[in-house]
Order: sequence, then C-alpha cells, then structure tokens
Amino acid sequence: MNTEYIRVDNNKSCNEYIKRAGEIIRQGGLVAFPTETVYGLGGDALNRASARKIYEAKGRPSDNPLIVHIASLDDLPRIAESVPESACRLAERFWPGPLTMIFKKKDTVPEETTGGLKTVAVRMPGHETALSFIRAAGGFVAAPSANRSGRPSPTTGERVLEDMNGRIEMILDGGPSQIGLESTILDLSGCSTGNGADEPPMILRPGYVTEEMLREVIGGVRYDRTVFEKADAGLRPKAPGMKYRHYAPFGTLRIVKGDRDAVISYIREAAQEARAAGKRVGILACDTEDKGYEADLVLRIGSLSDEAEIARSLYESFRTCDDQKIDLIYSEEFMTKRLGHAIMNRLLKAAGHEVIEV
Ligand code: AMP
Ligand code: MG
Repeated sequence: MNTEYIRVDNNKSCNEYIKRAGEIIRQGGLVAFPTETVYGLGGDALNRASARKIYEAKGRPSDNPLIVHIASLDDLPRIAESVPESACRLAERFWPGPLTMIFKKKDTVPEETTGGLKTVAVRMPGHETALSFIRAAGGFVAAPSANRSGRPSPTTGERVLEDMNGRIEMILDGGPSQIGLESTILDLSGCSTGNGADEPPMILRPGYVTEEMLREVIGGVRYDRTVFEKADAGLRPKAPGMKYRHYAPFGTLRIVKGDRDAVISYIREAAQEARAAGKRVGILACDTEDKGYEADLVLRIGSLSDEAEIARSLYESFRTCDDQKIDLIYSEEFMTKRLGHAIMNRLLKAAGHEVIEV
C-alpha cells in the first residue's frame, strides 16, 4: 500500500486534504492524524473491520481497546450508554482536551473497537485539524497512538511515517505534538447517572490533566494501583493496554533514583563500565548544566523547571536512542511537580520498572 504523506496546518488550503482523509475513514481505511497529545492512528470506530485493521497495522494485541475520538458533545450519547453528571462537568471543563473518559458502551460500538469490553473510552481532542478530520470522517474515529505496538508513541509526522509507511492510506502531518504524552484516562463506568457515585472515578493512566485538576471538578478520584506498581499475575491493570511493556526504546532502560549527587556519580561510573564492556550507552538527563556525563549519546531532555518540555521530548528521546543504536540507557528520575506522575508512569513502563535506587 502506498501511504500518502500530507503536511497540514489550520489554513483553508488544507480543507481538501482533510475532506479526503475523512472519506478514507468512511470507506474503511486508516489515516494517522495529529492531536495535542500524540499522533493517533484513526479508523471508523463504528466499523468492526476498520478496528481490526488498526490492530493489524499496529501489531497490537486485540484485547487492548481503542479510544473513540469525537468532535461534538452531542455525539456522546450515540456511543455511551449512561453519562454520569460528573462526566458532563468534566467535559465542560476539559473538552476539547487531553482527558479520556470511560463509559458503559452502546451496541453501536462494536466489541472489536473496545477489545471485547462492554465499556468505551471517549475523548474530544484539543486540536483543530483533529476535530475537522473527525467531523469529515463521520464523527467517530477510533484511534490508538500511531506507533507500532510497544514502540514509543510518535510526536511528529516523520516518526509516524517511520512506523506506518506502507501500512495505512494516509498521514496528516500537523507538526510536533504540543503535550507529547497520551491523555489522562478516567474510568467513570462504575458511576451511576444519579448524583451518588457507586464507585469513585478511577485514573487508569495519568496525563496532562492531573488528579488535582479532576478533584477540583468532581471531588474524589483514585488511582488504579498498576499506574505506579509493576503489574503481575496478582495485580491486573484496569486499562488492558497498561499491562504490556510499552512506550519502550529497543535498548535496555534503567532509571536511577536518589540523592542528586549520588545519581550523577552512579550514572557516570555505570556508563563508563558499560562502555568498557563494549556497549553503546545513552543517558537521559534533565537541566542543561554539565554533569560530567560521558556516553555515546547524552540527551538533556528538558529542565526541571519546565516540565512541559520534558513531557514533550520524552518519546522523541527514546527514538533518538534507537536511531543511534543505543544498547543501554540510564535515565535520571523526572518527578516534576505537576506532570511528574504522567512522565514517570511512561518512563517506568518503558523501563519495565527497572529502578536503581542509590
Ligand atoms: P492508546 O490509544 O495507545 O493511547 O491506548 C489506549 C489506552 O486506553 C490503552 O491503555 C487501553 O487499554 C485504554 N482503554 C481504552 N478503552 C478502554 C476501556 N474501555 N477500559 C479500560 N481501558 C481502556
Ligand atoms: Mg499507545
């Protein structure tokens, strides 16, 4: 299959392409598109054959459900069986934006889209091109991140092309993603539609919309334990996708945690030893100051005082390590104030929870 690669921005001349992209979806094809979080790999959410194609293009296990993207709140009742009042308040506050909410699903959504579950995850992305594309596609676009399964999510059109060339009909390149980490996922499927919630809403994946921001709008929320703990036979994540090793570079990734100076000296020594043993070593660090790191690749992915920059560059840094054929990566911990949970959740999953405490 020939993959058409189209650069789009928000000016009028792109409308033709967006219309064509929508037509591809209506006819059962796949189009990757930009959002404010990461790039999505879109197909018709209400068409089971399209959902199957998404799993195939990504090489994704078919029990890992897809997020359905909508462009209008009026469309939500067509796919969600019951929308609790708390969800309406959250939608008013955070949509369009980086929050995904899970509801009981209607029969309009095939189980292929939801990985066999009776619930459906829904998001309205905060990105003009994405919204126009979803409208052109008929209103319901199933879209996981546009990477091959297990790989870091793509935050540029070029990275989508790297993974999806020849596998999908079209890529809409809208420039680098603003946020760079996937949406916050909040499970509301256990909440009743009345005032009282049967089960408190649960964060299945942390993201740009933080626990505090959610609490301000709806009060009590809690985290699924597997967000920060390693999932095993006794501890199964509620978001099926979170059980897989994920977001990962090809090389082995280890997080080094502890007192700042101890971390620096550990990484310096460990990098030296590994290189002496013939390994290609990469280091992910924050801040711009020189810490005396020597490795085949040292990436300063952002300053601790600008956590948005760290979030935006994390996945690209993994992919740069892969470009440079790095075998072993040491990363500092990036437990920043607001986005720290989201950043560390991805880093921990990518590292298979390999943390060295010094
Ligand atoms: P991605 O589209 O790559 O960001 O992955 C979507 C994430 O949402 C995966 O971790 C899924 O397991 C999760 N997800 C989607 N739908 C549901 C659902 N109905 N229940 C629980 N988790 C879901
Ligand atoms: Mg993904």
